[in-house]
Amino acid sequence: MTQEQIHAMAQKLRLEAVRMIYEGKDGHPGPALSIADIVATLYFDVMNIDPKNPQWEDRDRFILSKGHACPILYAALNERGYFEPKVEHFQLRQLHSMFQGHPSMHSTPGIDMTSGSLGNGIAVGAGMAAAAKVQGRDFTTYVICGDGELQEGVCWEGVNMAAGRKLDNLVVFVDRNGWQSYKSVEFTVGNNNIADRFRAFGWHTQEIDGHNIDAIRSAVTIAKSQKGVPACIVCDCIKGKGVSYMENNNSWHKGVPTDEQYAIAVKELGGAEA
Ligand SMILES: [Mg+2]
Repeated sequence: MTQEQIHAMAQKLRLEAVRMIYEGKDGHPGPALSIADIVATLYFDVMNIDPKNPQWEDRDRFILSKGHACPILYAALNERGYFEPKVEHFQLRQLHSMFQGHPSMHSTPGIDMTSGSLGNGIAVGAGMAAAAKVQGRDFTTYVICGDGELQEGVCWEGVNMAAGRKLDNLVVFVDRNGWQSYKSVEFTVGNNNIADRFRAFGWHTQEIDGHNIDAIRSAVTIAKSQKGVPACIVCDCIKGKGVSYMENNNSWHKGVPTDEQYAIAVKELGGAEA
């Protein structure tokens, strides 16, 4: 796909995410919109996957450590062809729905790891990457975690182990949007130097614009070319990106647009319903 096509897909995923939250009357739009460009680039350009065979053993793995952002992942899996037939209405967070408020690997094709209890994704990803080494498999494991989430200590156990075991088949994206559920990351823990900390553990670490498709693609290429070290890509993102009244407005960490707000979101994301 071209950069323009991936950007258009990211906007489509954003629209779907907002729509499923609006229809389900519950969910986390801000965290989902923040990572749309990374998710679109991974699923439509980077990852070696087979939607018709979601358990293929040599597929690249993906872990959404900040599991509450799953509407964007559900939208990506749907557009990529994991669901047959294609889903029209997701019934997000509804009883017995396949699309719960946090991803479940036992309920939904294409979900490689159940997540939502924050802090686990890097450690589980390191485990998958280590397993690939042990089994002689060639797949890459990708993780997206939040910047607030990095306050969980277990993250750094995974970071430590991945460097120690030289897991150059592990790529972690950090969604550095500056916010967490309660307030800003800076209010909560001060300036916590995310990139410096990954570097201190021995990770190859890049800092990029998390909404620039070419920058994301280039960073992945560089990350995968590193030998003997895991890779971190710290992405500067805007929470709520793409919907004017949600951007950098942390009251949209969790929330449901009114009819009027939904119409604005649809228009801004280029939807046909406006
Ligand atoms: Mg955040």
